[in-house]
Amino acid sequence: MKVAFLGLGAIGAPMARHLAPQYTLSVWNRTASRATDFARENNAQAATSPADAVRGAAIAITCLPTSREVESLLDGEDGMLGAVDRGATLVDCTSGDPATSRRIAARLAERGVGFVDAPVSGGVSGAVKGILTIMCGGDEGAMARARPILEAFGEKIVLCGPVGAGHAVKAINQAMLGVHIWSLAEGLVALEKAGVSTATALEVINASSGRSNTSMNLFPERVMTRAFPRTFRLALMDKDVRIAADFAREHGVPSPLLQLVSELLREARRELGEEADHVETAKVLEEWAGVEIGRKA
Ligand code: NDP
Repeated sequence: MKVAFLGLGAIGAPMARHLAPQYTLSVWNRTASRATDFARENNAQAATSPADAVRGAAIAITCLPTSREVESLLDGEDGMLGAVDRGATLVDCTSGDPATSRRIAARLAERGVGFVDAPVSGGVSGAVKGILTIMCGGDEGAMARARPILEAFGEKIVLCGPVGAGHAVKAINQAMLGVHIWSLAEGLVALEKAGVSTATALEVINASSGRSNTSMNLFPERVMTRAFPRTFRLALMDKDVRIAADFAREHGVPSPLLQLVSELLREARRELGEEADHVETAKVLEEWAGVEIGRKA
């Protein structure tokens, strides 16, 4: 069975790597050298265009920055729409937005092609290990076709509702992550300024009710060590949290915290630039306060 994978970025590449041993895998990437390198190293085929990638594939997976880029790959001579087989399913692992996905799904449906939005959580390390959480939106038939392929890199795979539901859940998850990072950075900066050991504070918080993945893993591994590896761009998290804030607003829900964290992350992105990692947000708080977390032993 042929599977196509489009978008070999930081998380797309390790996801696609799990598919190569199990399927006839065709990969496409905007920067073609990444696809040819991947194909050589993983016994896959490098496609010359999105159309070339999806032709004859039962499942086509996209993993791009936003839904806008996914939509842009549909049209034109090299676009997916003119080449994808009737009966195939497009599985979009982008952290996208529900409204654009509904539009994409409707266009595909006109051609007898299914659609599942299937954004992932678990980071690059989760993708490498093949243990991502995948939150899906779509109908049960499309989901049944997508699930065995998603199992190659996912551990917890949940159908959340109709098309767009996966993206909505992902956006809200990202807003929670944004709140955790921002609030922990503010709190640790205050403790640092007051002369309290932030290593001790983290040890206590991680045995208390305020703990989170951010306090248990991200800050100990990335902030306290000053390693700040670049695995998930702040620019992408800003985009995710904006989707969450817009989603709440579109549904007429009072959401002061979602709106605020979205504004704060936009500011952090402005200050740190397009390539900064999401955890580097802590540096903005450090800069504002004039202290560095983890200085006091
Ligand atoms: P990257 O920025 O590392 O990679 C983006 C990919 O999209 C690259 O393959 C890039 O191609 C391609 N691309 C960018 N613009 C276009 C375009 N206009 N047309 C076609 N292709 C394009 O992103 P990630 O891999 O980190 O993220 C991908 C998605 O997964 C995002 O929605 C992100 O929010 C989500 N995600 C990421 C996680 C992570 O830890 N990194 C965790 C969970 C979700 P090129 O090589 O040419 O630049």
